This record gives sequence, C-alpha cells and structure tokens, in this order.
Amino acid sequence: MLGAIIGDIVGSSHEFNSIKTTKFNLFDKRSRYTDDSVMTMAVVEWLLDDAEHSHKVLEDKMVKFGSLNPRAGYGGMFSSWLFFPSGIFKDGKRRPYNSFGNGSAMRVSAVGWMFDTLEETERVAEISASITHNDPEGIKGAQATAAAIWMARNGKNKQEIRDYISTKYGYNLDRTCDQIRPSYDFDVTCQGSVPEAIIAFLDSTDYESTVRLAVSLGGDSDTQACIAGGIAEAFYKDIPAEIVSRAMRLVPRYFIANMKRFYDAVNYHPKYIDMEQKEKQSERCTPDFIRSLAPNEIFVFGSNLAGMHGGGAARIAVDKFGAVWGQGVGLQGQSYAIPTMQGGVETIRPYVDEFIEFAKKHPEYKFLVTRIGCGIAGFTDDEIAPLFKEAQSLENVWLPKSFR
Ligand SMILES: [Mg+2]
Repeated sequence: MLGAIIGDIVGSSHEFNSIKTTKFNLFDKRSRYTDDSVMTMAVVEWLLDDAEHSHKVLEDKMVKFGSLNPRAGYGGMFSSWLFFPSGIFKDGKRRPYNSFGNGSAMRVSAVGWMFDTLEETERVAEISASITHNDPEGIKGAQATAAAIWMARNGKNKQEIRDYISTKYGYNLDRTCDQIRPSYDFDVTCQGSVPEAIIAFLDSTDYESTVRLAVSLGGDSDTQACIAGGIAEAFYKDIPAEIVSRAMRLVPRYFIANMKRFYDAVNYHPKYIDMEQKEKQSERCTPDFIRSLAPNEIFVFGSNLAGMHGGGAARIAVDKFGAVWGQGVGLQGQSYAIPTMQGGVETIRPYVDEFIEFAKKHPEYKFLVTRIGCGIAGFTDDEIAPLFKEAQSLENVWLPKSFR
C-alpha cells in the first residue's frame, strides 16, 4: 500500500499536465499526496480497527481523514458526500451514489494485503467500494485491483494475474502501454482506467518502471500510478530506498505510523519501511531563519495578550504567515501565538501547555517553535526551554536548538 501512495505522489504533478513519456523526474516541486493517499489511509485504519468491516466505521474513517486533509483534490460528488452530505441527501445521511469513478480502486490497496483468501479479499473490496461506488463497475474496479494485489503478493505470475482478472472482470488486458498511449485520454471511470493501470504493471520490469509507465499513458496520472504502484509493490516486493525516502518526506507522520501499524498487523516487514527520513528528536530543530512554510507547517511565535504583533517573530508572523492583528493567543493562519509579555515565566506556562495539547490534537501539522520569550520579552533560553519539556518527544513539534 506504500507503493500506491508513492504512485499517487509521483503522478500528482502530471494529473492536469499529462505527458506521454516515461522520461520525467519522479519528484518535482509540485509533487504531493492527494485524495488517493488520504482515502487509502482511511481504508487502512478501517481494516485495522473494524473486524466487522462495517460501512459505519468506514464512513467515520473517511470523514476523519478527509477532515484532516480537506484540500486533497477530491472529485466533485465525493467531496459533497464527504464534507456536505446535506447538499446531496435531503436527510443529510451519507449513502452510496452509484459512482463508477476510479475512487473505489485508488483507495483499496490495503484490502489486497489483509486477507488469507482471494474470496475474502474480493468480498471486503466490494464493501470498501460500495459505501459510495455501488455501481457494478465501481465495485469491479476495486475488486480487480485488490485481487491483483492479493495474487501478486501470493506469488502468482503475470500471466496468471492477467488471465484471472480478464476472465473474472472482463477487462481487456491483451494490450500494451505502447498501444494504449497514443489515443488514451484523461478518464476517471473504473472501466476506463483500472485495466490500463493493470497493464502498466503487466508491462513493467520493476516498481519504478511501473509508475513511469502508468504516468506515461497520459490520463488521470496520480490515480493510474496509485493503482499500478500498489500492485507492483506486492509483486516486486521492493521499492528503491531513495524513492521511499523522497516520498515519505511529503506525507504526514501519522500516515507513516498507520502504514507501519498495518504492515505489522499483516506480518509483512518490507526492508523499505524503515527507510523513511524520520528525524530523530535531536534533529527536529527549528531553523534560525524561516522565510517560507510548507502547507502543513505552522510558525509558532511569542506574542502579547493584546495581539500587537509589532516586532520580532510576531512581525514576521503577520507579514508572511497569516497572524491576525489583535489576536494574542493560538492558531491564526499558518502561525500560532504564545503570549510572553504578561509577567514572569510562570505566566507563560499555561499558554505553552495549551499549545502542547493543541499540537497533540493536530498531528497533521508540523509546528516550528521559534525562541519565544527570548527577544523583546527578555527571558533566557534556559528559562523558557523547561516549559517545552513535554514537547521534546512530540514528533510534530520542532524546537529551537537552544531549547533542546
Ligand atoms: Mg488524486
């Protein structure tokens, strides 16, 4: 399922910018994880936490991960289903909407890893699809993808996979990427994209060539590479460490934790899972100068209760990171204020505690704490650092070197 997430990230730069070649940089400045990865994470947690495989729990997980990642590029109907169900259902209760989009196939990869039998794999793939994609094609797309992953990880060869999927699901897999590419176009239906993604895998020689082939078809490239990459991971059982670590720098920490928990649960221990660039505690240090932030980063600065962000880091927070004049405490834009000007060190503690609680509740953010209180407020690093003791171990909090 990591192979699916990497495929999503690699394909993301080309979703609306299609290319017809396998020669491109796997990662560029637009590379990001999208809805494919977010909903894959929802399915992962569902499989781990709900032995009944109920739609109720799956819905909760999809809403949870969707809310943590509201701008991941969801399709129109799915976005309404997820965020505004009362806009499409009179009673506001979410229900399936007969979709045959490839959303059912892009989120299913973990199902292919979870079960001992192909029958159970296909049964649960259907449940995972039909919460939204209850059209027969929507269900088939998920089942075919999960079945291919199950077969690949259980040692079936490509011919066996090709025969089974084409016979059972009626997909035409007797084509090659070179035959498909010239006339292929953006297609988000299952029937118009899942067979092509499977063919990208069948034509490949390793994990990397799979995602390159999937993107090179020039369609819905993140989803194509996600579906194909999920199968390729199961088949080749190897993803180059460099590709893993590049991609893992672009996903939230809780994605990685979820993946590890899942691989543990299915007793699969790929050597690449520990290859991610996980910063050690001592390495999670806020840079001295912060000029820009990634979308998930929050600039934590010292303020005053009146929210007069006139100087120092507070000024930068206002000028660059969305701090609000007059707001002295808490999250504002991509910044977070901790007041430091109201008295002694002990008066700062409750606000730091509040910040730490906030950081724990928001694993999707990475907090870059600056040397709060050590500028205009006049405290020393030695006075302020102990307030952040509990934050030392939080994986989403970066502290100034002098606080470590
Ligand atoms: Mg996407």
